[in-house]
Amino acid sequence: MPIKGVGINAHSYRIKGDPEFLEADLAFFEEVGFEYVEIPIHGVDGVVGGELNLKSMEKVKEALEKHRLKATVHCPDPLNLREGDFELSQKVFKSCIEFTSKLEAEILVYHDGNFKRTRQRSQHQDLARRKEIEALESLSDFAAERGVQICVENVAGSLEELVRMVGEVDRENVGITCDFGHAFLFYSACGRKGGFLESIEKTVPYLRHVHIHDNFGRFTSDFVLDSLTTPYIDRLPFGEGDLHMPPGMGKIPYNKIIPLIKGYRGVVIMEIDPRYKDFYQEALTSIKKIFEEKSK
Ligand SMILES: [Zn+2]
Repeated sequence: MPIKGVGINAHSYRIKGDPEFLEADLAFFEEVGFEYVEIPIHGVDGVVGGELNLKSMEKVKEALEKHRLKATVHCPDPLNLREGDFELSQKVFKSCIEFTSKLEAEILVYHDGNFKRTRQRSQHQDLARRKEIEALESLSDFAAERGVQICVENVAGSLEELVRMVGEVDRENVGITCDFGHAFLFYSACGRKGGFLESIEKTVPYLRHVHIHDNFGRFTSDFVLDSLTTPYIDRLPFGEGDLHMPPGMGKIPYNKIIPLIKGYRGVVIMEIDPRYKDFYQEALTSIKKIFEEKSK
């Protein structure tokens, strides 16, 4: 298989800083056959008050070695270089880079700061975007010294916008995490036929990491806010929002997506809600098969 391997996300709300939960989940991931796990820094208390929590990092490292899993790392979800306390956000980001480097994980995922797009007034957008670009440039130097690749993930914005931003940052170690589930929701909402697949092709020059999961491309207003404010069990019957289901359960055409990124040689992370743990095995087999058949 040309990709580095397939992994699964450790779930922040499930672990909630408890090493025993992490340990149990890692044992299960190993048993299923995953080669990688994405560690949410916030799920393991990896950064506290802006500082790196070295003890937490060491515990995670020990547990990974025990279960023969390699890691990629995810920044805290609310980390945002476009708004809030800019100095503190940069401090948290640097500690995330240190966590990743000490874990020898290489890949660090950061949600692009545009994820609250409905809340940010348009006249401030350009300024906020400029701030984020400058911050990423300086964080890129800090990360390069520590061998870390920053991968900016699309959440509620377009992939074209993300490509433009990462292109402006223009650093080898600042690339894109393409989250196909988020993109599918975004382009379904815009109602742009073909926009979804075309936009994925545009990310290819910057593509350093991918997130795979499924949904129905359906939501009522804003999928991020929906996902935060409406409980999962109230959305699932209607197939609404960012459901993080195993591929095949929703409507995302992975058979069409994978050929578009056939040169991709990184890690594939399945970002699936733990309620579907009984489907992990099947999801792993099917995604490996798609990559083997479609990425030649
Ligand atoms: Zn994601």
